[in-house]
Amino acid sequence: AYTGPTADEILKKRKEFLSPSMFYFYSKPVNIVHGKMQYLFDENGRRYLDAFGGIATVCCGHCHPDVVKAIVNQSNSLQHSTILYLNHSITDFAEALASKLPGDLKVVFFTNSGTEANELAMMMARLYTGCNDIISLRNAYHGNAAASMGATAQSNWKFNVVQSGVHHAINPDPYRGLFGSDGEKYAKDVDDLIQFGTSGHVAAFMSEAIQGVGGIVELASGYLPVVYNTIKKVGGLCIADEVQSGFARTGSHFWGFESHGVVPDIITMAKGIGNGIPLGAVVTTPKIAEVLTRRSYFNTFGGNPVCTAAGLAVLKVIEREKLQENAHAVGSYLKERLNALKAKHEIIGDVRGRGLMLGVELVTDRQLKTPAKVEILQVMEQMKELGVLIGKGGFYGNVFRITPPLCFNKEDADFLVDVMDYAIAKL
Ligand code: PMP
Repeated sequence: AYTGPTADEILKKRKEFLSPSMFYFYSKPVNIVHGKMQYLFDENGRRYLDAFGGIATVCCGHCHPDVVKAIVNQSNSLQHSTILYLNHSITDFAEALASKLPGDLKVVFFTNSGTEANELAMMMARLYTGCNDIISLRNAYHGNAAASMGATAQSNWKFNVVQSGVHHAINPDPYRGLFGSDGEKYAKDVDDLIQFGTSGHVAAFMSEAIQGVGGIVELASGYLPVVYNTIKKVGGLCIADEVQSGFARTGSHFWGFESHGVVPDIITMAKGIGNGIPLGAVVTTPKIAEVLTRRSYFNTFGGNPVCTAAGLAVLKVIEREKLQENAHAVGSYLKERLNALKAKHEIIGDVRGRGLMLGVELVTDRQLKTPAKVEILQVMEQMKELGVLIGKGGFYGNVFRITPPLCFNKEDADFLVDVMDYAIAKL
């Protein structure tokens, strides 16, 4: 049994010793002391179904034995910086990662986070093209350093950074967007931004395949192919931020961009890549990767032996345990059940997403799409009481985000929906 500090003791210390910027879920936050696959356990040994762990990085399941073993073994043999010497851990993982990507996308630069990966991707695109302007989407989240915060386009995540050269295109949001699900109409805005907001050339277009922090917004179908063409025509590069949608999460494909039928020039990844270990990566072509040789560039811990050993173990687990197939099967089933719940409860305005990256948007009025900001908190608290931890996001904070570890099964899906059903009914 757990004998460590209680939730109250931890809260008290957080108040005194940690940045006041740190937030937590629930009016009475849970003290999680242990994790096992899709389950989390609190200080009293109470089990919760973790329907949000995937976004907090875990893709194979909490403490997956193979990943733990890889981390422990590598820690026992060597942990060091990646600069200066050779070690096989980084090359083994880079090779395995490259094998999951199409064509010439095979040169990897490892980082420690998604923010770092996006910073690097944006810098490389600017170096490669000699242009500064970058287009990203409204409602996007790409990180919290200068460039990536500039690309992020939600006021609640933006501080006073000098937003050099980033333009935000109209979001191709099928639920709330101006043009419904007509992807090509939204794509025209990117063309307009280029013609009227830049010199006519841009460094890059960057987007998620499904916006995560933004509330599981699937880009309207047909949007990305047109935009990618437009960008290529003006000499820019297309950057796919796969931090949330990558690593088999969408089920139908290994990468989110694949379901849009496009091939990016640069791909950034993090979160699921290391099953909870701080690791990120930028993958691009040899030609683009060349720009970094113009100066000296390094990242002390990017691609270190322990993290890349974990990454390689993750890829093997995804394959061996058929987690992509599972994400597809369980995700489709779960989405179906959530849609049935929508038919039952007025408050559910939209159910969307792919595989095990699903969103449920709550509104108090289906016609006006009024965000049910207060109600979602009540449902969330109630679901926690009943043993389900779920995520929340979207610009208005009214979208449930369901992104569990990929080992989530049908019984878990049923439990989640039944609990949500009950919690909504109790409103
Ligand atoms: N891109 C996307 C799509 C993200 O969701 C996030 C984090 N939520 C990031 C980038 C930034 O990653 P990190 O927090 O590891 O810096």
